[in-house]
Amino acid sequence: MIYERPYYYDKFHCIAGDCPMTCCAGWEVDVDCASREYFLSLEGPLGDELRATMQPTPEDEDMAFFPLTDEGNCPFLDDQGLCRLYSAYGEEGFCQTCSEYPRYFGVTGSHQQIDLTLSCPEAVRIFFADTTPITFSVSEDIMEGEELTDEEEMQLLDLYQWRDALMRKLTAFRGTTSELLQLLCQQTELKDCPCDLKDIGELYRLLSSTEELDGRWRDALNKISRLPDGKTAFSPMDQEPNAICLRLCQYLLFRYSIDIFYGSSREDILRLMIRSLMTILLIYHSGWEASDAHSCRAIWERGASDTALPSPEMIRLMDATLLFSRQIEHSEDNVELLKAL
Ligand code: SF4
Repeated sequence: MIYERPYYYDKFHCIAGDCPMTCCAGWEVDVDCASREYFLSLEGPLGDELRATMQPTPEDEDMAFFPLTDEGNCPFLDDQGLCRLYSAYGEEGFCQTCSEYPRYFGVTGSHQQIDLTLSCPEAVRIFFADTTPITFSVSEDIMEGEELTDEEEMQLLDLYQWRDALMRKLTAFRGTTSELLQLLCQQTELKDCPCDLKDIGELYRLLSSTEELDGRWRDALNKISRLPDGKTAFSPMDQEPNAICLRLCQYLLFRYSIDIFYGSSREDILRLMIRSLMTILLIYHSGWEASDAHSCRAIWERGASDTALPSPEMIRLMDATLLFSRQIEHSEDNVELLKAL
């Protein structure tokens, strides 16, 4: 098996009680087959509650999920923000989703891509702690992956060649954020560029139709709706090189280009990258601010980081990235919306 991961991956450790967010709210928790079996075998009141709460996944009867409460939380989140299953059963009480998050592992044939999801504030802190282009490490072992047909192998090779060529362009890029968006729009695959900075209305309409996963999304949308159309919506920051925007493009390319193997087009991936970066910038420029308790700034205030406190602007960009990821990246439907023509 060949493993690819960004260099920052190994720096992640959950900061648990110092975390300003919870990963137990906003999205349904998928329960893998082994955890489902384990949960079904448990006795006592918690076992009964698990059997009553767990719902079968329509597409796969071996899998299950925990539906959210009316408040949008995991039903096993307690008043102190702790997991009742972890408190009762230790590590075994965690299903695969909970023990891996915010790490993700995508296997295609004999390739596995590994990364952190930017919906976790500590992952965002690590991501923003460096401003050099992301480098990726590749390692290999004797584990066998799933067998692919010759045609599928060719498809995979083709998409990796495309991804790596674009990644090289991004790594060498030194222009402004506006020019970065233009570079993506100028890729030959893209016929209609979705990054018309003069018309943010179309993107706003798309964002308004996403399924709401984060309760703060509506507030951010309201603020975005008050932005003036046109280039004034994009402050001088976009007219200067911004290393974080470049890193975000690399993150999106690494994460989503594999979707081409599963039916997306190159054009879809480029549209998703452009719209995702523009969404983060729109949230940032709208003046939306996370509450003190839910801001990435809390990580420094709680002493969970040994690096210097970033500028208020950088904290706002971190919070905008976190909100984008929590709202968009945990819903396949939302991701597909940003890919669509
Ligand atoms: S969001 Fe990240 S840092 Fe916070 S509790 Fe979850 S995994 Fe840990």
